[in-house]
Amino acid sequence: MENTKKIAEVRRSRQREVLFKVLKGTKSHPTADWIYHEVRKTLPRISLGTVYRNLRLLAERGEILELHYGDGQSRFDGTPENHYHFNCQTCGKVYDVEEPLKKDMERDLSKKLGFIVNHHRVEFYGICMDCQ
Ligand code: ZN
Ligand code: MN
Repeated sequence: MENTKKIAEVRRSRQREVLFKVLKGTKSHPTADWIYHEVRKTLPRISLGTVYRNLRLLAERGEILELHYGDGQSRFDGTPENHYHFNCQTCGKVYDVEEPLKKDMERDLSKKLGFIVNHHRVEFYGICMDCQ
């Protein structure tokens, strides 16, 4: 019984490892469906549910980011540190924006409102270079 448990545990951590590598290997901010497709190249028997479960777990642990956009499917980001995104309204691609974080905005707001600001999110929307 102990052994079966151990094998299941090894399998789960292997699944997470493959999934994490796939996500780290792309800058496309993919959906769970895309990740599922890629992970299956290495682990053909993995289920979409398992992929979802592991993505949620990694996001909860702060190892990846789950990006919620209004259009339904979440996207996932292998860079967990706060950074800004540009969303193309034509092709739907999500790009990283290499801009220094506006930490002063957080400080100003804290001072003004008396809130404790832990972090902030910025999303830019427009038309990317490929679509112009
Ligand atoms: Zn575009
Ligand atoms: Mn990103």
